[in-house]
Amino acid sequence: MQYDVVIGLEVHAELNTKTKCFCSCKNQYGQSPNSNCCPVCVGLPGALPVLNGEAVKKTIKAGLAMGFEINKTAIFERKNYFYPDLPKAYQISQLEKPICINGSLRIFDKDIPINRIHLEEDAGKLIHQGNISMIDYNRGGVPLIELVTDALKEPHIESADEAIEFLTKLRQIYIYAGVAECELEKGQMRADVNISLKPKGSAEYGVKVEMKNIMGFKSVYRAINYEINRQKEILDDGGTILQETRKWDDEKGESFTLRTKENSEDYRYFPDPDLIAIHISDEDIEEIKKSLSPLPDQLKQIYTSNYGLSEYDADVILADKKISDFYNQCVALYPQPKTIANWITTEILARIKNNEDIAISGENLIWIIKTVDEKKLQRNNAKELLSIIWGTDLDAQTEAKSRGLLSDLDQSVILGILDNVLKEKAEVVEQYKREKDPKILNFLVGQVMKASLGKANAQEIMQILREKLN
Ligand SMILES: [Zn+2]
Repeated sequence: MQYDVVIGLEVHAELNTKTKCFCSCKNQYGQSPNSNCCPVCVGLPGALPVLNGEAVKKTIKAGLAMGFEINKTAIFERKNYFYPDLPKAYQISQLEKPICINGSLRIFDKDIPINRIHLEEDAGKLIHQGNISMIDYNRGGVPLIELVTDALKEPHIESADEAIEFLTKLRQIYIYAGVAECELEKGQMRADVNISLKPKGSAEYGVKVEMKNIMGFKSVYRAINYEINRQKEILDDGGTILQETRKWDDEKGESFTLRTKENSEDYRYFPDPDLIAIHISDEDIEEIKKSLSPLPDQLKQIYTSNYGLSEYDADVILADKKISDFYNQCVALYPQPKTIANWITTEILARIKNNEDIAISGENLIWIIKTVDEKKLQRNNAKELLSIIWGTDLDAQTEAKSRGLLSDLDQSVILGILDNVLKEKAEVVEQYKREKDPKILNFLVGQVMKASLGKANAQEIMQILREKLN
């Protein structure tokens, strides 16, 4: 039988604020366990939360980047559950009035409707070793935005490919908007996926199965395909799908039941009496809108339409914000976008390994590109120069000169060589003066080129000789 697949995504991303969401502990990854906590973020009785305004601004910014409506009044609620990673036994989150509602994200040729983005606090981290479980509360209280797609509206995310495209674009938008780092291996972006199947063309939705906290896009991809096939097989055999939460085991490449709907949690949400409502004015929104830097889709439009880059090259540059920032900087220094794109997608990218930084300044790269364009530096010498200065503080121009990589010599040196040639070939010079034969002039240019070891510019020499001898 043929089925329609409906995929819903809930994506958590840690905001890159300086401090946590409701206390002044640092929002920093990689500290020694439980060294970055205070009475507020470990939920000691009597400790009161104070909202971090930067977290609200970044949530609004994330929403504006995807055309969300911003709620003028947003409130925080307590989501109650017992689990060791949550010392207060409730998470400060948003249910009824989140900050952002009704947005969308364009993937391939469809705009995927998004229900909401809300702000909440992250929980601590459980570390399991053999029979022992340990808790690190450093992550507790880190501001987290949760985005929820609206699978009840069309169009749907219908395949693992579309889900990955959605996550990839969302990650890019967060990074370009400057609200989150989204480093997947640090767990800074995590996805829950729900999947249901219905007979092709049917209006009625099938039973939803949820998979929580899948790490990494590759795992999301595998988990989705596994779940689609699992449900297909059950439905083809005439069975029914259980509404349940399943856990994806990446090593085994399969999922297993975590809990069924019958014992799913009731979070008993209620407004947090410790936190007053957030009021967001039109002026606040305008100001944040103005501070929003260009997003990948806008930049792609500029790169392809205004700069004439191929879609492929534009995508290569946009895949990493630091490359795109570097490219923009270089184009501002030297308005030759195609030439620069060429250099960056070949020479520069080849030198960046394992997500390292770009180890050359825009000024140095542009000096090299310009000098090649002016035909004063051979392409292979340029590559050599690039390797010499890569990862150092050396200046391209100084190195090129001191290492004799430039094709042209100082004017005075060239004139000296030229005068010597004219003296040595005095008879030929006299002959040229009489006959004005271009072949003789070419011969003299050749002599100067030879004496300069090929470093003089032939056209320049030709011009000087003409002036001198005519
Ligand atoms: Zn704290």
